[in-house]
Amino acid sequence: MNVIILGPPGAGKGTQARFLTEKMGLIQLSTGDLLRSAAAAGTEIGLRAKAVMDAGNLVSDEIVIGVVSDRLDQPDVRSGVIFDGFPRTAAQAVALDRLMDEKGLTLDAVVSMDVDDDLLVDRVSGRFTCAACGEGYHDTHKRPAKDGVCDNCGSTEFKRRADDNAETVRARLNAYHADTAPLIDYYRGTGKLKTVDGMAGIEEVAVAIRAALD
Ligand code: ADP
Ligand code: ADP
Ligand code: ZN
Repeated sequence: MNVIILGPPGAGKGTQARFLTEKMGLIQLSTGDLLRSAAAAGTEIGLRAKAVMDAGNLVSDEIVIGVVSDRLDQPDVRSGVIFDGFPRTAAQAVALDRLMDEKGLTLDAVVSMDVDDDLLVDRVSGRFTCAACGEGYHDTHKRPAKDGVCDNCGSTEFKRRADDNAETVRARLNAYHADTAPLIDYYRGTGKLKTVDGMAGIEEVAVAIRAALD
């Protein structure tokens, strides 16, 4: 099964995509993670993308589509993919249709996570992740069971993203409303859209997504 998780920054896409990798054996394809890895590796594309990401703007379609195309050429995606944070523009959606066609893959569903803007600033500002395993946490909504220790792997190192601050979130929300939200109608037109209430608790949202995909 190949699924897109669509939603604004902080909606919980990464959190839910991680559940789907565990429960359904799907591969998480997060363009944000791929771009951050490229930036950390210091590649030319990574460095160009980093400046754009730090400002809260969208990286060019050309770069992002190239990154996704390369990832889809790796054999592990044949077990099914969750697209997390891609597509984010109409041009990316059209490119994804073409790429899937070329690579003999089918898009099964698009899960749209609905969350009000005022909640998103809090979600993004409080976000942190385990530096070792990538498990996601939140200052108020999802603290590790033991303070300072990752529930998943026991690591005591955590990190916060440079772009997860209140000012940059505003720019990212503007980009979402201008360029990404119109994709909801695009996918409604394909009959593949499933909408879930992303304002409920993490577990409730997970149950709603699994029901939508069953
Ligand atoms: P996205 O990938 O859409 O940007 P994340 O999955 O990283 O969002 O979630 C953003 C932050 O909000 C994280 O700190 C996460 O722990 C927290 N979070 C995710 N889903 C919920 C939820 N349903 N309720 C409360 N907090 C949530
Ligand atoms: P979030 O879900 O919190 O918005 P992501 O990790 O998905 O975070 O994205 C972080 C940043 O990476 C975005 O603000 C943008 O600069 C860049 N980015 C990620 N995916 C895309 C994409 N599909 N198109 C353009 N830019 C992207
Ligand atoms: Zn961990």
